[in-house]
This record gives sequence, structure tokens and C-alpha cells, in this order.
Amino acid sequence: MNLKENIEGRLGKAIAQAGNEEIYYALLGLTKDMCKDKRANEGNKKVYYISAEFLIGKLLSNNLINLGIFGDVKKLLEENGRSITDIEEVEPEPSLGNGGLGRLAACFMDSIATLGLNGAGIGLNYHFGLFKQVFEDYKQKETKNPWIEKESWLVDAGVHFNVQYKDFSLSSTLYDIDVPGYDNGINKLHLFDVDTLDESIVGDGINFDKSQIAKNLTLFLYPDDSDKAGELLRIYQQYFMVSNGAQLILKEVDEKGYDVRKLYEHVAIQINDTHPSMVIPELIRLLGERGIEFDEAADIVSKTCAYTNHTILAEALEKWPVDYLEEVVPHLMPIIRRLDEKVKERYSDERLAIIDNQNRVHMAHMDIHYGYSVNGVAALHTDILKDSELKVFYDIYPEKFNNKTNGITFRRWLMHCNTELSDYITELIGDEWKKDADKLEGLLKYKDDENVLKKMLEIKSNNKKVLKKYLKDTQNIDISEDSIFDIQVKRLHEYKRQQMNALYLIYKYKQIKAGNLPKTPITMVFGAKAAPAYTLAKDIIHLILCMQQLIANDAQVNPYLKVVMVENYNVTKAEKLIPACDISEQISLASKEASGTSNMKFMLNGAVTLGTMDGANVEINDLVGSENIYIFGKSSDEVIKLYENNGYCSRKYYEDDKVIEELVDFIIDKKLIQIGDPGSLGRLYKELINKDWFMTLLDIKEYIDVKEKMISEYDDRMAWAKKMLVNTAKAGFFSSDRTIAEYNNDIWKL
Ligand SMILES: *Cc1c(COP(=O)(O)O)cnc(C)c1O
Repeated sequence: MNLKENIEGRLGKAIAQAGNEEIYYALLGLTKDMCKDKRANEGNKKVYYISAEFLIGKLLSNNLINLGIFGDVKKLLEENGRSITDIEEVEPEPSLGNGGLGRLAACFMDSIATLGLNGAGIGLNYHFGLFKQVFEDYKQKETKNPWIEKESWLVDAGVHFNVQYKDFSLSSTLYDIDVPGYDNGINKLHLFDVDTLDESIVGDGINFDKSQIAKNLTLFLYPDDSDKAGELLRIYQQYFMVSNGAQLILKEVDEKGYDVRKLYEHVAIQINDTHPSMVIPELIRLLGERGIEFDEAADIVSKTCAYTNHTILAEALEKWPVDYLEEVVPHLMPIIRRLDEKVKERYSDERLAIIDNQNRVHMAHMDIHYGYSVNGVAALHTDILKDSELKVFYDIYPEKFNNKTNGITFRRWLMHCNTELSDYITELIGDEWKKDADKLEGLLKYKDDENVLKKMLEIKSNNKKVLKKYLKDTQNIDISEDSIFDIQVKRLHEYKRQQMNALYLIYKYKQIKAGNLPKTPITMVFGAKAAPAYTLAKDIIHLILCMQQLIANDAQVNPYLKVVMVENYNVTKAEKLIPACDISEQISLASKEASGTSNMKFMLNGAVTLGTMDGANVEINDLVGSENIYIFGKSSDEVIKLYENNGYCSRKYYEDDKVIEELVDFIIDKKLIQIGDPGSLGRLYKELINKDWFMTLLDIKEYIDVKEKMISEYDDRMAWAKKMLVNTAKAGFFSSDRTIAEYNNDIWKL
């Protein structure tokens, strides 16, 4: 193919004469055509990864990389006075995910295709995504986030199903997005959409009539479920996803001529968290319609489905009231009741029941009893599942439990987002690492090579300049590449403890006010969306934005300390922030973060972790060694004990320690109250003193000490560069190619 001719043919003019938008659409068309022509990954058995979220990010550059023409396209554009970065700006980011869980699903799609495995993703085509975050009066406001344009990655597959609810049925259309493997075949991401959707029912912000299911079903991901109508809508959505998915799976099995009684020989279904759990009773129902007896159908489905647990937070382990399910999917309830009865015939322990004595259906319990595999997402997380959270299940099904430490795709999170580092690594050790990430360890032989270390620092500094320009262009904020970039970006949740980082910010502010100036200035970056109904999370955002304003206007402080709260944190922003980071904040309360994946992205890009012994941080620590990571805080065992004996009282920490008291009091200092909302700040202040469920004050002192040490050690540039290099070199384990190979070897067996 002559690339130039092809693109100019699509444009109908010379590249140099075309606008960025025109070039984007030409490249979109080219990429889609190349995917169409490419071979699909095939095999006798196929994995279906069902997930309510796929946080795929922009696709153009990644698809070009995986198709092997990114370099050529980039060069061609440059020769014609254009830049691929400007073209990327045109592409809207699909907001089909919330955070780590959805981003994991996207990385897995990339790795499944890259390993040449026969697989597909199944999810929903939310037109307005999660929501778009805008800041107004130092607060988060939510607006819709439309991303589907006339020309997009979606391809109408011409497949339609009916989904039956209690009093009505809905028809669906399947849209596919091609997923090219890196130097391998194509898989598909299947996104189902409801045919009767009516975008015009969305009013102000993200409000709409939650009762009009036919019109609203695929408008938003996780619509506000703080009331009953919202919870019912989630059940409608979940059933729509799994019923369409199950029908598609059986259709493909029929087309291949396989025997559905041997479904498990040809299909593995990975249930990503509990949102898709209803696929189990739905498949049993559909097999029943084909004349298969209940017990046999349940057995077939149990050998087909595998469940991934993503959290031990109670709020996320879904329990739907029987009444709600009766109202939405009454035809599934007899099946769920029989599944529950079969469990109760064998086990009297109430904790193992699917339907509890308050008439709630525990979705995870159904997955564990009627799936053949249960996996956690990091070593520590899986141990906690076995030893405490799911111990009663582990005792009866030890063989089902296994660990699959999460991973990230290095195509997106290094090759694409940090081309300069990626190219430099290749210059040093060749390009085998792109397909075999463990080869990155080859970098270790340069860990005392001054020239290499200097180059690592130079690349970091270049990435900081790129971020500096981006923040200037998008939010009109000035930062300096000569400052330390300290970054915490992830969903806003108390367990992730952005509030602890905000207290450090107050600490540093007060230090500078008192004349204790840092040797190197510090730029603290936050990025986070809060769930629309999560009041306290929004209060934390408010505090950070008020601090940002306070410091921006304080000439005594701002030469030494800057705060940036990045608006609408998403994959696109992550790709700019992560390569520029020096200090990666991974400070969750030990035992609460199942794995984390941004910790892996940062490490890969040469940031040094400041973290607790939680999630995959534990494995990062094991890999890089204590001299290349900064660890603080109480251990998960200690924290679990504190919860068990109600042993934590935040007020005691507040009252017994002058420093803590001053930091917390500052939240309602008149300087902040003048900028912000006293109600919101006051609520956060009281919460920290009276409850602090995620134990901020437990670790705050040690956090401050270790962070201060880290900041002072940053100034030994060569020693720091060595830590950077070791982190990148040891990141190979966290390639999602490794994770997917393990899923395949241990669970799917394709
Ligand atoms: C990786 C990623 C996440 C997950 O971050 P954690 O720190 O692991 O929670 C969330 N959002 C986006 C946009 C990401 O890229």
C-alpha cells in the first residue's frame, strides 16, 4: 500500500492542504479498512469477557501501532507539515468506563488480541458515557459526555436481539469495535445498544426520567443509584447486557455447529465484577428453552463461567432485593431460587446463601457457587479473599480460587504515551521487550551508567515540558518543569485517601508560610472524578480546588508550591500526566485497594512510588526492592484488626497530636471559608474528626515524614535516576500480556 496515495485518495486533496479533522477521518477510514482486511483470531474455544465498562481511550494511535504503521503515518504527516499529536486531538475519547476496572478490561482486550487468542468483549454502548466533569465555583459539576459521531469506530454489525422484561421487551442493535492485536489478528469488542433510545430526554446536567427505560437504557454508565428508580435502571441495564451477550454466544455456537451441551468445551465467559452476574441464570434459562433439564443446564453453565472479584468494599458487592428482580426480570427469579435451594440443601451456613434472610440476592455468591473459577486481582487481594472476605467459600471450594495480578498494555502505556522513552529503551536493549516485557530487565546493566541516567532525566524533563504546555493550553495553569511533579490521579474515593494528600498539601503550605522553604519547588497534581451522589468525595474535590485557589493567589507560597486539579481526568489526560511524573501517589488504606493499575503505569514510565503496602504495591515493592520505593503506613493485617475490634478512633489522633489538629482545623480556616463553601468544608472537617472510616489520621504523620524524605532525596539527581531506571526495568511483570497468558493457562484454556 502506498500510504500517501491512500490517504490523499480519501482526502481528495494533498495532506498539506487538509485540515486536522479531515486527516483524522481519513486515518479513521484507513484503519477501519485495514482491520476489515486483516485475519480474525480464531480457535476451537472462545473467551467472552463481559464487562459493564470498557475504558478504551482514544483508539487511532494505538490501532496504528498495533497495525504496524504508526511510525510511517507519523513520518508522512511530519513530511507534510502536520503532527500526529494534533490529529489525535480531534478524536473524542469514549467515556465507557469509570476507573481501573474498565481500563483493565480495555488492556485485556489489547492483550487477548495480541496473544492471538480467540476472544471478544461484551458490553453496552452508553451514548453519554459516565459523565464529563467540569469545575464551577470550585466544585464538580456533571454534564453529559457525548462521544459518538457520524463517523466513529463503531460498526453496525447488523445483529439484533429481543430482551424480555416483565411487561415489555426491548430490541437491540450490536455495534462492534475492532481490536487489532499488536502484530497479530483482530478481535471484536461488542457493544449493545437499545433501539428506542431517546437522547433528548436528558435535561440539565445528567438528569433524566429514570422510569422511561426504553428511552434511557444506554444513555449513561452507572446512572445515579441513590434512589430506587436508579437501582432498578441498573438492573435493567445489566440484564440487557447479559441477555444480549448470552444470545450472541449461543448464536455463534450454533453457527459453528457446536453442541450446546458441550458449551464449556467451546466457550469461557469471564464475569468482570458482579455487574454481569445475571448471565448465569440467563444462560440456564436459554438452555432450558432448548430442552435441557435444569440440573444439566446449571452444570453446563457452571463449567463455562468464571468470576473476577475486584474489591472487598461492601458497597461494590451487589445485593439486589428479590422484589426488584421480580419487578424487572421475573422470569429469572425461579431460576435464582432453585440455584439458591440447591446451595441450601448442601450447606446450612447462612453466609453461603445466594438469597439471604432479608430477601436480597448476593450476586457474587451466585458467581462463586455456579462458576468454576474465582480470582482476585493482586496477590495480597487474593489472600484477603481467601483468609477473610470469602473465607467461607474458600473453605468449600479451595480449588476454584486463584490469583491473577492485574496488568497494563505496554503498547498504550509506554510505546504510545512516552515515545521518547520507548525509543530510547529500544536503542539500548533492542525491541524484543515489545513482545516480551520481561526483557526490560536488560536495562539493569545501565543502572550505574551516568550517560544513560542523564538521558533518563532529560526524557523526564521533556515529558514535563509537554505536560506544562498542555496544562497551560487546557486550563491556563502555569507550572515549572524544574519542580517535582507529585501526582495522584484515580477515582475519588475515601479509601484512596486523596484527603490525606490534601492534608499534606496543607502541611507544606503552612511550612512555607512559616519560612521553611523546600529546596526544589513542588507541583502537586490531582485528577479525579467523584460519583455524582458521593457527597464526601465531592467535598474532598472542593477542598483541593479551594487550596489551589488559595495558593495561586499567595505570592509568598506559589514560587515553591503549586496545586493543579486536572479537570475531567480520563485516559487521554492520564497519557499526558503519567510520563511526566516523579512521585506516584499510591496511598490507599492497606487492604482496601484490590490491585491498582495506575501504580503500574507510573512505575513503567520511571516514576517512583510513594505508597502503602496495599494491592499490587506489595508486588512492586518485592520487585524493585526497598531502596527504589517509599513505603509507609499500617499493614493490611493491622488495619483488618482495627476494623474487627473497632480499634480506630480518629478523634483521639486529632486530640492527641498538635500537628494533626492544626492540619484538620485548617479545612475550616477563614482563609478557605472565604474562597469556598463553609457547608461542604465543615462536613469534611467533621467527618475526619468523628468518623474517618478509611483511617486518614492513622497514617498521616508517617506519610508526611516519608514524603519529606522522598522530596529531599529527589535532589540527588543521579541516585534518583537510578531508582527511575530500576522501576522501568522491573515493570515487565505488569504487562497485561503476562496477566492474560495466566488467565488463559489457568482459567480459559483456549
Ligand atoms: C489506570 C486508570 C485508572 C485506574 O487508576 P488506579 O490508580 O489504579 O485506581 C483510572 N482511570 C484512568 C483514566 C486510568 O487510566
